Amino acid sequence: MRLFVAVQLSPDVKRALTQLQNRLREAGVSARYVDPDNLHLTLAFIGEWPDDITPLLPRPEAPFSITLTHIGVFKRANVLWAGIAPSRELFDLAARVRTRLTAAGIPFDAGAFTPHITLARKPILPGGALPQIEIPPVGMTVDSVCLYWSHRIKDKLVYTVIGRSGICQEDDT
Ligand code: ATP
Ligand code: MG
Repeated sequence: MRLFVAVQLSPDVKRALTQLQNRLREAGVSARYVDPDNLHLTLAFIGEWPDDITPLLPRPEAPFSITLTHIGVFKRANVLWAGIAPSRELFDLAARVRTRLTAAGIPFDAGAFTPHITLARKPILPGGALPQIEIPPVGMTVDSVCLYWSHRIKDKLVYTVIGRSGICQEDDT
């Protein structure tokens, strides 16, 4: 299974991001836009791994909020993204996910964590520059992380949530 660990986005955040995608389209940015169902915030990309690793997923120390900030592009990966306001709690959460994966001997992409939500791939920017689009300061509360299975159904890329942290831990306390 192709796996990754990510924060599932709230309906409000997804709505704001979908509106943002529409404004980018209107501003003339042609790209392969991410299906709204597939929007997520990756914490660790694992790739091929045979087992369900849900029991390893940490919960945040306490629920915390994240807020969208600005849009940007990663030139090398050729993606256009929405950024998250700097958050110590979010970095801590990603670090805890990665520490647990390491301890369990599960390989993952150990590149620096740069919190972003991919909105579009292979963007072609009008005039070579990102349009000036404000993001509404929409946010959400993070109280768990999810295990996603990346697969294809009839050529369509689908990310399916197959596990979520904390349900049992919460009941145990
Ligand atoms: P495709 O690879 O078909 O273009 P995709 O990149 O959306 O589609 P996956 O490659 O399965 O699908 O990636 C799932 C998620 O993990 C995406 O958020 C992607 O950006 C991220 N991801 C993929 N590869 C890596 C990697 N090597 N390091 C960090 N994150 C990655
Ligand atoms: Mg990929």
